[in-house]
Amino acid sequence: MQPSVRVNEISLYLRCPRLIFFENLRDKGLPRKIDAKHMLLRSLMLSISEKDDLESHLIENLSRMREELPLVYEVEPDELQLACRELEDEVAGIARALASNLDLLLPCQAEIDLFSDRLGLSGRLDRLAPGGMPSLIRTGKAPQEGIWKKDRLMLAGYSLLLGEMGKTHINQGLVEYSRQGLVRTAEIRGVDRARVLRIRDRIRQIRQGQLPDRPEDAPCDNCEAREICETRHSLASRFF
Ligand code: SF4
Repeated sequence: MQPSVRVNEISLYLRCPRLIFFENLRDKGLPRKIDAKHMLLRSLMLSISEKDDLESHLIENLSRMREELPLVYEVEPDELQLACRELEDEVAGIARALASNLDLLLPCQAEIDLFSDRLGLSGRLDRLAPGGMPSLIRTGKAPQEGIWKKDRLMLAGYSLLLGEMGKTHINQGLVEYSRQGLVRTAEIRGVDRARVLRIRDRIRQIRQGQLPDRPEDAPCDNCEAREICETRHSLASRFF
């Protein structure tokens, strides 16, 4: 049986399908730089458990994370301190914006492992929100309206997994754009679920050794696979 495709690989595939190939090529995957602010924001969102006095709660959790995270992750101490200082300045605004959305998020279960043999999919969902809605935590900028396409497809992936467990269709999900304290509700459509399954099949083919073409709009400038990708390209051009 083929190993399952993880829902977060869908996001990697949408960034560039070649990244799936290079991720699969190396035993330990591509080098990943830990972004301290991303990690802090994510941990902060996951720490929310009460609706009262959110700002003090977030400040308290931030100071605890400042001590604990270096013990858990390999992160540059200076980078972590800088990220903490930046977030201290932003916490009040995040808490204000989030306050009106807490009913959408709590009570919840955080970081749930999901797996389906039948779908060939697996993943760790950030939050299972009230009403059984999948919720993603994002640390980048929110779009002007709605949610980003890759977030919609990831929600569709988790809705497939949750739906398989509960034998039902999950038609709505949430995206938490933590930097702005926004929580956006999104419809999960059948067409997105079908697209997830097509991408799953494509990822399987790539894992079996099919190197995809380089997309015209590939975001190569800051790509962690740039060196190996360019080597592959020049090797291939020698033969053709
Ligand atoms: S360098 Fe460009 S084409 Fe190659 S994997 Fe990265 S984004 Fe894709």
